Amino acid sequence: MRQRSHVTTVTALVLRASAWGEKDRLLVLVTRERGRVVALAQGAQRLTNRLAPVAQTGVIATMWLAQGREFERLTDYRILGLPRRLRQDVVALTAFCLVAECLELATPTGVTEHGLFDEVIWFWERLEAGAPAVKWLVVAQVRLLWHFGLMPHLIRCALCGADLEQDAVVFAPSVGGALCENCARSKAPADGEVFPNAVLQALYALWQQPQLIDTLTLRPLSWQQALLLLRHHWRYHLEVTGKAWRVWQQLSAPTQPLRVRRG
Ligand SMILES: [Zn+2]
Repeated sequence: MRQRSHVTTVTALVLRASAWGEKDRLLVLVTRERGRVVALAQGAQRLTNRLAPVAQTGVIATMWLAQGREFERLTDYRILGLPRRLRQDVVALTAFCLVAECLELATPTGVTEHGLFDEVIWFWERLEAGAPAVKWLVVAQVRLLWHFGLMPHLIRCALCGADLEQDAVVFAPSVGGALCENCARSKAPADGEVFPNAVLQALYALWQQPQLIDTLTLRPLSWQQALLLLRHHWRYHLEVTGKAWRVWQQLSAPTQPLRVRRG
């Protein structure tokens, strides 16, 4: 007699839903109960399939998962949140995908992290409520670095603890973040890059108070510099692929006149 397969229930956000084989979708989930989970939604490439509505990037749902041979199988679900903005706004979708990539790479499997999950849902709600994508991307990434124990030093020297008073600060992920002038000179880390101190201070403030996403204003260039700093830091710690990042850079580049070659 075959044993009934073991079914578990999770609260999940779909980070990625990729085509898998001819008919299925493979879902990468961040869950409240079990960290990162990969699950197969059988037949979900067909729009009329029962699982198709939940097998979409950015959906939040309660999911019932059964043990499968290679992956767990999605057997049933109840939708808790459907992304609307992500389906209409390619910039917001790209920002989400950048954060989703960090979550996919850094979230451990089999670990209960209510704090992380609840904050991810808070960020999902802010994005859906219309938060500017660039600000959202900066704040979400700073908070995730902290959740994953990768938070860099921003307002004090990573090596000697001195306050940073200079206008331009060397930031080097390999030594843990920002450096004072003395340490930057004596240690001169190979991955050091220079950023305005004001950008580091803004990142520190946003880490402490993510609600500042609604009120903090910086020049557009400063937001871009903050993103570059965060990118620099993530790349040192994780094997980020950069696919979503390239799309982001294309979308946020100043509009150039189209040069269409006529042959
Ligand atoms: Zn120092």
